[in-house]
Amino acid sequence: MKTAAFLLTALTLLAATPPAAAGSEPVISHTARLTFDVATHSVQIVDLLEIPAGVDHLRLNRGMTITAIEAADGAQGDVRLAVQASDDADDPILELDLTRLGLGDRGGRLVVTFGGTFLESVADAVFSRENVGNEITATIGEEGIYLSSAAEWLPRADGTLAIHDLTIMTPAGFETVTQGTRTVHETAGAVLTTRWVAPDPSDGINLIANRYFVHEEPVREGVVSQTFFLEDDARLRATYMERTKAYIAMYEEMIGPYPYTKFATVENWFPTGYGMPSYTLLGSQVLRLPFIPYTSFGHEIAHNWWGNAVFVDTAEGNWCEGLTVYCADYHYKAQESPEAARSYRRTLLKDYAAYTKDAANDFPLAAFLSRHSGATRAVGYGKSMMVFHMADRMIGREAFLEGLRRVAREHNFSKAAWSDFLDAFATAGGRDLAAFGDQWLNRTGAPFLALKDVAFADDKVAFTLVQSDPAYALEVPVVVTGAAGPQEHIVALAALEQEFTLAGTGITRLAVDPDAHLFRRLHRQEIEPTISQVLADEDPVFVLQDAAAEMTAAARAFAASYAETEDFTLVADGTLPQPGRSGIIINPPATRVKELAAPELVVAGSTVFVAGKRYSLKDYDLVFAGFDRGDGDATHLVVLCDSTYRLEALARRVGHYGKYSWLLLPTGQGKVLRGNWETGDSPLAAARPR
Ligand SMILES: [Zn+2]
Repeated sequence: MKTAAFLLTALTLLAATPPAAAGSEPVISHTARLTFDVATHSVQIVDLLEIPAGVDHLRLNRGMTITAIEAADGAQGDVRLAVQASDDADDPILELDLTRLGLGDRGGRLVVTFGGTFLESVADAVFSRENVGNEITATIGEEGIYLSSAAEWLPRADGTLAIHDLTIMTPAGFETVTQGTRTVHETAGAVLTTRWVAPDPSDGINLIANRYFVHEEPVREGVVSQTFFLEDDARLRATYMERTKAYIAMYEEMIGPYPYTKFATVENWFPTGYGMPSYTLLGSQVLRLPFIPYTSFGHEIAHNWWGNAVFVDTAEGNWCEGLTVYCADYHYKAQESPEAARSYRRTLLKDYAAYTKDAANDFPLAAFLSRHSGATRAVGYGKSMMVFHMADRMIGREAFLEGLRRVAREHNFSKAAWSDFLDAFATAGGRDLAAFGDQWLNRTGAPFLALKDVAFADDKVAFTLVQSDPAYALEVPVVVTGAAGPQEHIVALAALEQEFTLAGTGITRLAVDPDAHLFRRLHRQEIEPTISQVLADEDPVFVLQDAAAEMTAAARAFAASYAETEDFTLVADGTLPQPGRSGIIINPPATRVKELAAPELVVAGSTVFVAGKRYSLKDYDLVFAGFDRGDGDATHLVVLCDSTYRLEALARRVGHYGKYSWLLLPTGQGKVLRGNWETGDSPLAAARPR
């Protein structure tokens, strides 16, 4: 038992190296030995902690029982004196007072022996649209072991980071995975011993074990790709291995060296979609969705640079999601085509308009910490990404990437703030970005632009740009179409109202920011009705008319599932809701369908024409968003589905397609067809009168 001997040595000699410094964050070092008993759902832990100066309290999961505390000098701490259970119901923890152990806040070494029993039902674990929370934090059993950092299963302290060296005893047949490098893997009798060494600081640690098929392939010298799958699926494995190598290569070129020795794709037996330092934990279903390897999987890998290695200094707001989206989700669209990138940016602007329709939901980026609603996502992810995009356009791609690389290099395993990025961009681009940063980070809202007094002449076009008060300093793209085709000009707008003249020959058209490069509040005419506008209404009204009893029951089930609560409003007489509120209108009469349908949609009996193509409502259920022409501000959702059985299931599916205007969902097997209605004429464009 080589491993056990090693741990014993470590505990006896207390010879671990001092914790690395990470910026100003103190780092706690753990050298721990964990013994799992899945039959009794329990774990026993002996943790040797090296505590830096300045830390005088530790927290631990309340479900743990501490049986011994030994200080470095061999003195036995009195558990009864040093450990207290907090009586805060919202924060039920055990508190270790280091002063009572004679350590004070000088730091030092401590061996804590503790254990606990953890069993949570994963039966109800779902991946919800917005209601994150109510998640599994810790469970130990035959079906798997899962200890999340939120469970605080190792002693920790607020405002600190930790490094880990874990030796883990599990039943033979289980495989463990966590952050770091696996340095020991030995089976002796019925026990598997694995050791994971994670020398880089992190703000928490998750541990997973299950009956995995483990595979490993090299990515490059010093980095491997691993898969931990519950089935030995060679095709699935090949996809994730290939994607891991491709993403790591792409981001090493874009940002800098991959910060870890492995990246593992880990299958979970209940629904999750988490990215952790050097691995991702995906539920069985999510793992098998065909688009995941090409979308959110890359996002999780990008987080190994942004968030896992470069930490967020939240004092100036959380920049991390916006930048990760910019380097991942958005970047993949930009690689696909300029049109796909434009559509992505427009979706962000439309989401922002929808989710901040109630201005009380808006807030400055500097106040963003984490996503917990559509509005926090629209600002914390969407606006944030657009700030990086605008900076990229202002200083140019090469300087932008140079700035990113500098932050990644200088803040490896330490905190970075928005100002670190802005400083790096300013240096690389040779521009002062102080005012740029101030207006986008500290102000709530977005500029709203208007175009007036457009005068076309043979060799020029004159126009006036107007913006909402107080003015932003903006570099506004203006596309002028002349004899030589469309050409983009950048005009600097800093006043509330400013006149410009652009030269060209044979100018026929002028459009202000037609490609949505600026973060701005869109005009109503620039937005087509989309499902997300309905999703943004936190309290929509469900509308039925002349429905049979079974359909009414199915509509109630649909409403409960859609609203994620039993507390919803349902009207049965076809009345549309009050102005400004969205209705979800289930199987309305033909006249109502016609009222709400875009010009490209015609429903005649069970035949549907969408943009000239013909479908049958026997083959598809139809869901579409439409503006209420009587109410300038409301978007309604119409659902045509004649099956009580399918209706309830539709509620959850619709939430995945927020950016679209219409969906045709096959009644049997097949692909969901979807698309967007055309927008109206933009008030930010003008054509030369003929
Ligand atoms: Zn993310």
